[in-house]
Amino acid sequence: MSIRLRVLGSVVLLVVFLIGSGLYDRAVINGLRGDAKMINLSGTERVRAAKLAYLARRYLSEGRKEDRNEIEREIAVYENVLKGLESGSDEIGLKGAEDKISLGYLREAGEIWKRYRKSLESVISGNSSENNGDAYSEIDSLVFPLIERINKLTYHLDDLSTSAVNRFMKTKRALLALAAVLGVVIAFDIILAIVRPMNRLLQGMNCVAEGDLDYQLKEAGDNEFSLLAGSFNHMTENLKEYRMELKRVNKELEDFVYTVSHDLKEPLRGIASFSQFVKEDYEDKLDDRGRDYLERIIRSSGRMKELIDDLLTLSRIGRTKTELQRVSSKALVEEVMARLRFAIEEKNIEVNIREGMPDIYCDGAKIKEVFANLISNAVKFMDKRPAVLEIGWRKDSSGHTFFVRDNGIGIEARYFDKIFEIFQRLNRKEDYEGSGAGLTIVKKVVENHGGKVWVESTAGEGSIFYFSIPEP
Ligand code: ADP
Repeated sequence: MSIRLRVLGSVVLLVVFLIGSGLYDRAVINGLRGDAKMINLSGTERVRAAKLAYLARRYLSEGRKEDRNEIEREIAVYENVLKGLESGSDEIGLKGAEDKISLGYLREAGEIWKRYRKSLESVISGNSSENNGDAYSEIDSLVFPLIERINKLTYHLDDLSTSAVNRFMKTKRALLALAAVLGVVIAFDIILAIVRPMNRLLQGMNCVAEGDLDYQLKEAGDNEFSLLAGSFNHMTENLKEYRMELKRVNKELEDFVYTVSHDLKEPLRGIASFSQFVKEDYEDKLDDRGRDYLERIIRSSGRMKELIDDLLTLSRIGRTKTELQRVSSKALVEEVMARLRFAIEEKNIEVNIREGMPDIYCDGAKIKEVFANLISNAVKFMDKRPAVLEIGWRKDSSGHTFFVRDNGIGIEARYFDKIFEIFQRLNRKEDYEGSGAGLTIVKKVVENHGGKVWVESTAGEGSIFYFSIPEP
């Protein structure tokens, strides 16, 4: 069932239940209170009771015939009322304010009659003298059956009202239990219908975010989550295709770069060799301008060779497999430091390597190139005294993060991404040599290991380059 329908259904069910239970309560309360008409009737009864007691008292003391007749007439009226009540009282049920005889009325009437009976009894017993013995037994025989009936009806009314209240409480409890069960069922249904699929979707999203495109969601049922699962699966299928396409295009591009670079080296070698021959054999025949041109050709072909070599290195990284082995990062750094010893001594750089450089799983030769690029950059761009170079590491949840810190020229924040692009340099080649491929190579190697590389720097103060190598 659709989730919208489910929620709507639950809300309607709850509203119906609340209204129903409210109406029921009102009906019962109305029934218990009795309506205004009945209370008025009870008022009349009270007057009648007083009248009957008065007539009885006067008849007992004066023995007037009219009083006796009046008493009989009153009793006849009462008998009618009682008859009606006796037949109606068995039908008592909490049907609401419109009940012919409501519980409230019966209770009220019961109270009145109790008082009336007391008043009659006191009249009769207060006048039970020898003088008017006949009148006393007359009243006795007239009124006592009435009192008996009233007594009976009163007890009956008490029973009825108690059992009616009990019935009400029982139904109320049953309704409350039903509401509780309904609540649990709705909550459970919502958990099943919403929370569980949401969790699965979240799990799927996390998997996709981490690159696992094989995760599939179940498309069971005909609700919104099933549609969502369908779109999710469709999305992962598409992403998989795009990823394959991207890999294919990347591979083509790498092959292209490799072939072109390789092929370009051949004519370049020719240019370099022949310009060298011209220099060796014809230098003295050229004027100054000719010699200057020749020098430029030799320098440019040398630079072009550097660029092509960098391109080849870069495409080779993509073409060769990354072989993971346990390697000591300390040993890698020491080899690089030995390679750069001359430049470091020349610039009088203080080098600090943090204690306990760890063993890591990596392609040793490639990670050595990463350290070499970062450390040689740090050395190259160092411009302060004292110059301090620091190499360190930290352990984190997924592996190790290494850093190379210098207090050199620094980099403006807006170039933090740009410097990792191929052949992007921020300085003139007359000031700092280099091709601008080093950081691109670093990025490619680190990403092939599943890690990341980034920089923190302040222009004029120095830079820290970080790279992470995850544990396999
Ligand atoms: P290269 O060093 O051959 O120029 P890289 O790719 O290694 O090429 O670096 C690209 C650019 O990033 C450099 O030209 C330089 O402008 C900037 N850069 C790299 N490392 C540092 C550093 N430690 N301090 C300041 N600038 C740096």
